[in-house]
Amino acid sequence: MRRSAITLAGCALLALLSAGVTADSALDPMAAKGSAGAEWLTYGGTYDEQRHSRLTRINRSNVQELGVAWTYELKTGRGVETTPLIHKGVMYATSAWSVLHAIDARTGRELWVYDPGVDRAVGAKACCDVVNRGVALKDGLLFLGVIDGRLEAIDARTGKRRWSVVTVDQSKPYTITGAPRVVKDMVLIGNGGAELGVRGYVSAYDTRTGRLRWRFYTVPNPEGRPDGAASDEALARLANASWGPGGAWRRDGGGGTVWDSIVYDAVNDQVIIGVGNGSPWNAELRDPNGRGDNLFISSIVALDADTGAYRWHFQTTPRDNWDFTATQTIILAALPLGEGGALRRVVLQAPKNGFFYVLDARTGEFLSATPFSPMTWATGVDSKGRPIENPEARYRETATVVLPGPLGAHNWHPMAFSPETGLAYIPAHELPQPMNRDGKFETQPAAWNTGVDFASGLAVEMPAAAMKAMKAALKGRLIAWDPVARAPRWTVEHEGPWNGGVLSTAGGLVFQGKLNGDLVAYDAETGRPLWTHNLRAGIAAPPVTYELDGEQYLSVATGWGTAFALAAGFWFDGSVPPALGRVVTFKLGAKGRIPEPELPMVERTPKAPAFGTPAQLEAGLVHYSRNCAVCHGPVAISSGVLPDLRWSSTTADPGLWADVVLKGMLASNGMVGFARQLSPADAEAIRAYVVHRAHKTAG
Ligand code: CA
Repeated sequence: MRRSAITLAGCALLALLSAGVTADSALDPMAAKGSAGAEWLTYGGTYDEQRHSRLTRINRSNVQELGVAWTYELKTGRGVETTPLIHKGVMYATSAWSVLHAIDARTGRELWVYDPGVDRAVGAKACCDVVNRGVALKDGLLFLGVIDGRLEAIDARTGKRRWSVVTVDQSKPYTITGAPRVVKDMVLIGNGGAELGVRGYVSAYDTRTGRLRWRFYTVPNPEGRPDGAASDEALARLANASWGPGGAWRRDGGGGTVWDSIVYDAVNDQVIIGVGNGSPWNAELRDPNGRGDNLFISSIVALDADTGAYRWHFQTTPRDNWDFTATQTIILAALPLGEGGALRRVVLQAPKNGFFYVLDARTGEFLSATPFSPMTWATGVDSKGRPIENPEARYRETATVVLPGPLGAHNWHPMAFSPETGLAYIPAHELPQPMNRDGKFETQPAAWNTGVDFASGLAVEMPAAAMKAMKAALKGRLIAWDPVARAPRWTVEHEGPWNGGVLSTAGGLVFQGKLNGDLVAYDAETGRPLWTHNLRAGIAAPPVTYELDGEQYLSVATGWGTAFALAAGFWFDGSVPPALGRVVTFKLGAKGRIPEPELPMVERTPKAPAFGTPAQLEAGLVHYSRNCAVCHGPVAISSGVLPDLRWSSTTADPGLWADVVLKGMLASNGMVGFARQLSPADAEAIRAYVVHRAHKTAG
């Protein structure tokens, strides 16, 4: 009796939603329909996460009249990846260190700021900057994932904390950067950390109390026992046998972190998650005795929404070896792929590995996989969607250039899909990387635990021509991908990689920000640029749009930081506008101005005389590449998000250098000590190398 009443209520809700009525927030805070309306209520706009807006007041014919309505300072120079939510006239935007800002969406006035007070030493666990991608919303509560592994409920009106739970083992290098998602009366959150060594999972908590409702681990328990979790059955039946008995996965957790995409498929009442890379990356070190696929790393997995029980999975990169996460934007859409062109509900994803996937949403059946970006690691897929690998891509002792590289053909920058054009808009890039086995992996611990040699392809002397060639190899583009024709409709080539996430609108427009600070509106059908405005700071985050009092607004956060900025400082090196955290909002006819950024000046001169034997410099390069480069930039060139060590006065004082590098004197700034990884001689070799680089590149 009770059961049928629930079913009836469910049917009524579905009928309401399919009739196109915006659901009342008391009933359901996020319209299940594909497109977003006047408010932006969840990370991807709606449950289907298409990042497509129904709003049309800003359109092809008037987009050139957009002007600055207001700006808001996020007061950070670290990475900003936020998708702001807009509800009842208030914008909720997150910033670096998981700080949450409530802003009047009409005026840009600050309403309140919630700072979870993260210990800055946690920054050393963050592979890809201390970023945050956004919050979730239900019944007057905002849900915030905190970089140190907390999940918190914040009162949307007052900014006061209502509950807080720790979702990870904080003794391990877990982080949270992703946006939680609300599913019914639960809030779902995953985590990151597979570069350093963790075991991935997704958890569902009660929205009112913070009590754990279910958890699904994506890889087997390293101790070989059940967890008493929702994943036990699927791991025992499908995953455990795909991992060998020994290897680094048992120490490092195996990876498979769910750090971004968690999508509620309301039609099939299931949650679809994107699962990350293996830990360590190098499959021969991770699982030397096995030949299995290492389920469920690099997979798309569907779970029952109420229980977290396994429904289906599709692995994009079996036995991943390259950091090819399948965590990228998951979009649910209806495409004419059924019998006689009937609409079929599908899952769309363009993960790091460079193939664009179309799967049946209900069953996970493989429909197609087509390269959307140049690749060397595979030549195609077989009839079941399994990649046909280039054997050389499974790198060993000698370096192999792999494309896409570990930063992927598409990373976290959200993709959009327009049901009107039928196109997916992919913020794609081309970032090849030489990869070979890290010979020191077994004998010497590193904070980053990939089993890949990060000095690969680098030398102590990097002539200007070599740097120029490295820079030229990195490309970026916006691709309008037709998932039915399995080909691009149009492509816009950018000046470089790592440009912002995408918004599509029923006004026939596609918006994307770029690292050079340009926010651009493209014609959704042709890719023709129709409007550009430079925001005086680089953009990585995706734009959103909303409507208040009959006016449509367009909003985006600036501040590029993030993985590529830390990992490829040489690409920046003063050539792009600053990483300045700010929300900039536009509307038609507005005439506001963006304030001039105030920048600290860095004196680009060596602070110590050059020293060191060739052997010491070579050792310095290797230790620097293994331990320092992922934050301070390869070949000792920083993008400026974190200090450029070449110009640091600490290099002039060997004692102070050792205190910082080994003893962690600046741990409260995020620079933890490396005494476990480095000897005093190693630390001094790094100083010699950094000072050498300063003399070679000054002026
Ligand atoms: Ca990764």
